[in-house]
Amino acid sequence: MTSGGDAPGMNAAIRSVVRACAYYRVSCVGIYRGYEGLIEGDFIELTARSVNNIINKGGTVLKSARSQEFRTKEGRAKAFEHLQENEIEAMVVIGGDGSFTGAVIFNEEYNFPIIGIPGTIDNDIFGTSHTLGYDTALNTAVEAIDKIRDTASSHNRLFFVEVMGRDAGFIALNAGVGAGAEEILIPEEDLGLDRMLESLKKSRRTGKSSSIVVVAEGDKSGKNVYELAQYVEENLPEYDVRVSVLGHMQRGGSPSCFDRVLASRLGVKSVELLLDGKTNLMVGLKDNEVISTSIAEAIKGGHSINQELLRVSDIMTT
Ligand code: ATP
Repeated sequence: MTSGGDAPGMNAAIRSVVRACAYYRVSCVGIYRGYEGLIEGDFIELTARSVNNIINKGGTVLKSARSQEFRTKEGRAKAFEHLQENEIEAMVVIGGDGSFTGAVIFNEEYNFPIIGIPGTIDNDIFGTSHTLGYDTALNTAVEAIDKIRDTASSHNRLFFVEVMGRDAGFIALNAGVGAGAEEILIPEEDLGLDRMLESLKKSRRTGKSSSIVVVAEGDKSGKNVYELAQYVEENLPEYDVRVSVLGHMQRGGSPSCFDRVLASRLGVKSVELLLDGKTNLMVGLKDNEVISTSIAEAIKGGHSINQELLRVSDIMTT
């Protein structure tokens, strides 16, 4: 199943799980709409041929949903009934930390074998250097910021560009460095509004006529992107300020080659772990090796922001 927010690469992961099952001669069933479909018994038999031509598609062919009912004991009891009726013996959940929390609770109650594949553009899951969809979302954000830069420089404007990341600044920091932003504001670090003003003033003095500030949705200053833009307009009236919110376009699109390869590797590993009798593990990537971590550990902590990259970003804005 795919659950929670969709992410590019989920289809490639579905394909990989289905093909690995076919390779090991295990029957495979797709569950539509995450836990919602599980509670309703909305299943489909999947063979190696059912997943032709989806490796390059964004979104998820199994659809995704958020289910309130799965948060209740009664909802989870219905889910277990459908699994038994259909003789399903194990489950691969492709999703984010919410989906994994649900999986752990379900496993505790019914001792049902589960493996998680991290699929979320936010990259905020411990136990993997990359979640599925993160690389694609980064590339989408950089491409969009490049286009905004064209119009910013033609009109000598200052653009505030909001990228996704309520609690994690990975997209903002990496897309900001990749797109050559003048300032990057993220949830993990309070870089200080005065420091931003100083930096923008300095940019002006040293001859920059246009600037890009990349802001994560959940910036530490507590101000949203419109309030930040207003703050700068009030304090630096010489700037012609505009705001662009990239929004859901960052979730869509054809997955990058990196995400397709990652999805293929994680899908195979998840099936192999289940066949080995393992459960409650999340598969992930570390130093380009496929590893597994206990799901309970994976949902406890995100991974911390890369201080070296923050330093590089500082130097680049000199
Ligand atoms: P994203 O990171 O993209 O938001 P996610 O997997 O974290 O993805 P959530 O909406 O947090 O998305 O969780 C997906 C689903 O997992 C929820 O709709 C719910 O059905 C289930 N879930 C989350 N937390 C719990 C919980 N504490 N108990 C039972 N089920 C849960």
